[in-house]
Amino acid sequence: MLWPHAGLRRVRNVELQQHLAAAHRESPESETWLGLLEAALAESEEGAGWEAAVPTPAPERSAKAPLLAHARITVDGRAVRRWVGRLLKRARQDGNRIDAVALLEAAVCQDDGRVEAQAAAAGTAAPALRVVGQMAAVPLLQACARGLAGSLPATWWEGYCPLCGAWPVLAEYAGLERKRQLRCGRCGTGWALPWLRCVFCDETHHEHLGYLTPEDGVQQMRKVEVCKTCNGYLKGLTTVRPLAPWAILLDDLSAVHLDVAALERGYRRPERPGYALDVRIAA
Ligand SMILES: [Zn+2]
Ligand SMILES: [Zn+2]
Repeated sequence: MLWPHAGLRRVRNVELQQHLAAAHRESPESETWLGLLEAALAESEEGAGWEAAVPTPAPERSAKAPLLAHARITVDGRAVRRWVGRLLKRARQDGNRIDAVALLEAAVCQDDGRVEAQAAAAGTAAPALRVVGQMAAVPLLQACARGLAGSLPATWWEGYCPLCGAWPVLAEYAGLERKRQLRCGRCGTGWALPWLRCVFCDETHHEHLGYLTPEDGVQQMRKVEVCKTCNGYLKGLTTVRPLAPWAILLDDLSAVHLDVAALERGYRRPERPGYALDVRIAA
């Protein structure tokens, strides 16, 4: 039984249901996280309310700014409070003193400092509130990715997401030519960046770039890109076709052993967001 709590939607996509069930079996320790992700993906599937919040990109953006930089987003305040309240309940956190719209704004901006300040003020556990915030932002960001796909720049040379400014969680090597496509775990956007260039620090000298490859034979589709200049790492996966947006975070969880391998060797994911968005969200 995946849903002990009333009031949370279940996802309808059958393939997604199967992947979620497998993730619950394989990663029982991630039960709470998976429950929140499942809620976020179901909410994202539902869509309608979030589509209305998709903003017009700010005209004064610089060339390197993601589409959502400086955007002004208006949301249905009651719906956002209900949505964040459901997630807080699912995370077994008391949400009475959490400002849901402010949490959503801080999460969209990846501003952990603001989320932590909210947690301290409300007496909520900061790590739990960070995850609730990240998941709360998924339906809005995925609606933005659907609604603004046509406005994305044709070429994008930055390592961070051209829509929401997050670092990629996955590099896909797609098709016969193994083109490198970076994927955002928040909004699902994909963008091509040539091989042999670190997404985090733009290092291009091949002697500073490398791979970790699993010894396990069945894992041949996977590797980890590492950079000796910034010590960043990015998980890679050979794919036939691009993963659906919902599959990216599930894949990230299923390849957590690669994170362990990278961390053990001193590599890490950057703590700071790729681009600080400065989004304002009003109810
Ligand atoms: Zn994104
Ligand atoms: Zn680097």
